[in-house]
Amino acid sequence: MFEPQTLTILGATGSIGLNTLAVAAQHPERFQLYAVTAHSNVTAMEQICREHKPRIAVMADVHAAADLKVRIADTSVQVLSGQQALADVAAAADMTMAAIVGAAGLMPTMAAVMAGKRVLLANKEALVMSGQLFMNAVVEHGAILLPIDSEHNAIFQCLPVAAQLSLGDQSLTTAGISKIILTGSGGPFRELPLADLAHQSPQAACAHPNWSMGQKISVDSATMLNKGLEYIEARWLFNCQQHELDVLLHPQSIIHSMVRYTDGSVLAQMGEPDMRTPIAYGLSYPDRIVSGVKALDFEQVGALTFCKPDPERYPCLQLAQDACWQGQWATTSLNAANEVAVAAFLNQRIRFTAIADVCAEVVGRIEAQELNSFEAILSVDHQARHYAEEIVEKYAVC
Ligand code: NAD
Ligand code: MG
Repeated sequence: MFEPQTLTILGATGSIGLNTLAVAAQHPERFQLYAVTAHSNVTAMEQICREHKPRIAVMADVHAAADLKVRIADTSVQVLSGQQALADVAAAADMTMAAIVGAAGLMPTMAAVMAGKRVLLANKEALVMSGQLFMNAVVEHGAILLPIDSEHNAIFQCLPVAAQLSLGDQSLTTAGISKIILTGSGGPFRELPLADLAHQSPQAACAHPNWSMGQKISVDSATMLNKGLEYIEARWLFNCQQHELDVLLHPQSIIHSMVRYTDGSVLAQMGEPDMRTPIAYGLSYPDRIVSGVKALDFEQVGALTFCKPDPERYPCLQLAQDACWQGQWATTSLNAANEVAVAAFLNQRIRFTAIADVCAEVVGRIEAQELNSFEAILSVDHQARHYAEEIVEKYAVC
């Protein structure tokens, strides 16, 4: 029928990575695993190599790669390490799942974009950091960009085909669209008394009511900075003006986002909150394949409710919305500050509520500037991390 397409998974040991392996493994006639990458989790990587038999496994960490090489010497998997290897395998396959968490994913993801491949984008931080440069590169190199973040995947599914095929390049008005509505559950602290927020543990912040995800994005969901990053992500993917983009709380996570058309129609994508659905869609677009996700049972779902997010509970959301329209320097610094602050919170160095304070102070300290190159972006990222480390000390609990 057709040749299987080769697939690289960046961040294969993570939540999105493992879900991607699970979906692809159901369709060996369509997908051939070319490479898998991870930072340093050798045990998880050994298991993946034995079960899924990729051609190449890359560990970003050199010592981890040496360890993996010994452990899987009895297999035919080639083990590589370092940044160049990450970029090489990202660029070599027909399609690449970009699922490294955080800024570390930017350059490997860009390598796949610049090779003009099909890029399945889960790593929202890469787009938040590089916005216009990223979208320009997609167009210039003829890459096919498929959003995997469930909200953006939902919006993509609700777009006309012409708009799907010219992401970032089309005007929403031309497509007959008046608004993109991002939905979010509000995370685990949606109903907590505000005074209790400061005393929440990393474990409580990571206990998302609807989705099972990596630690960083789970904390981002609790602060709703995740929705803020998604707001910025949506601005670039769908070429939104400020008045065309809105955020709505929808605690049941059944509707994954919506598109409002000028004729009064609203298209929504619904489903179980399970990332295998957007992953399967990205892998098989424009076809549909079995993902392993159970059918949505409307009788079980009950009522769907919506409300505005409370700015007092979720100051990080407002920070991100402001940064989005301030400029690339603001979104890059916010993203970097947040990575440092979330790591400090997970290590119990700062309180949950200090994440927003660290982010606000870092963005306030960075000078407004044009960021016209990846070097300039990485330099602001570096500077913002440095400031964030200093400010974390100020908020440290012990
Ligand atoms: P995770 O923490 O579970 O996994 C992260 C992966 O990245 C791991 O394989 C890890 O080895 C790799 N990694 C981490 N640091 C690295 C580094 N410095 N160099 C190379 N590799 C590194 O994260 P996740 O939840 O799977 O999320 C991955 C990305 O997808 C994030 O950007 C997140 O925002 C996005 N996303 C995730 C979900 C979800 O349901 N988990 C949903 C939407 C979007
Ligand atoms: Mg999302």
